[in-house]
Amino acid sequence: MTQDSTPTQANAAKNPALCEPCAGIQQNWRRAPGHVELIQGVNRKAERSHGQVTITRYWCERCGTAWDYENNKVKMDAGWSVVPGARRG
Ligand SMILES: [Zn+2]
Repeated sequence: MTQDSTPTQANAAKNPALCEPCAGIQQNWRRAPGHVELIQGVNRKAERSHGQVTITRYWCERCGTAWDYENNKVKMDAGWSVVPGARRG
């Protein structure tokens, strides 16, 4: 196991496949905006400690990244998150 720590931008280092608009999305921040190339997918319900929330799946047209947007009124760090391994195609 090698540890190659080239200094790069934080988002790019975590998700090298993210296109520029995706890299600009503020993750885990409620009410952060997405970007215009995101295509809305399916809604699903999820159980949280306080009750049920709605999570919406989005795909990026440009880079194929899958995003989940959690609509959670009581959790400030809900919102956008990249879905690992769920790339389109
Ligand atoms: Zn993208």
